[in-house]
Amino acid sequence: MSRIVVGEDEGEVLDIELEESIVKRNMMLADENRRILDDNRVRAIDVMGATGSGKTTLILQVCRRLKAKYRIAVIKGDLTSSIDSDIILKEGILSIQVNTGRECHLDASQIRRALEKLDLSNLDLIFIENVGNLICPAEFPLGSHKRIVVVSVTEGPYTVVKHPFMFMDADIVVINKMDLAEAMKVDPDKLLQDVRSINPKAYVVKARCRDGVGVDEVIHALGL
Ligand code: MG
Ligand code: ZN
Repeated sequence: MSRIVVGEDEGEVLDIELEESIVKRNMMLADENRRILDDNRVRAIDVMGATGSGKTTLILQVCRRLKAKYRIAVIKGDLTSSIDSDIILKEGILSIQVNTGRECHLDASQIRRALEKLDLSNLDLIFIENVGNLICPAEFPLGSHKRIVVVSVTEGPYTVVKHPFMFMDADIVVINKMDLAEAMKVDPDKLLQDVRSINPKAYVVKARCRDGVGVDEVIHALGL
């Protein structure tokens, strides 16, 4: 049977202008965030990926290793819960919860409000954990210096090819839960090839964040 496709250019046209202005406004605010961060010599790292991919665990492991060397804060985006920021706080690391309500991504204005609540002159590093979502965070830069995308083998074999925009701008891609690859019948090398073909410049780390495996490599890739 032949394939029937409805292309993106055939969709709703009414929203396009509105959407463009939202994206443009976000871009301006992201540039402002970057300026604020740079003025205060704070580096920000955006961590994206699906719910359950291991974003919080990665941030936690990285913070554990770096907290003696850098002054760190975590900004955590979620629809309504504060589960993740509580985990970070328990570790003795400053954490700000941003609840997005029904929004499936963080935007630059929310990050701006979070930055206003932080004493930036007393910080070196900020990790931003985005809402668990592999689609719109790609369109909403936050002003961060580096972007990490975490993909778990438990998401199946097609996560990368199905979300090209997410991986296109990533500086670092973490292929997580490597110990479960065999059970999931997912080939991590295929995921790695998929990343390479979309974004040859991305630094790819195979990891088991829960056990701390690959975490030092991520830190190295971040230049920290
Ligand atoms: Mg999380
Ligand atoms: Zn969204």
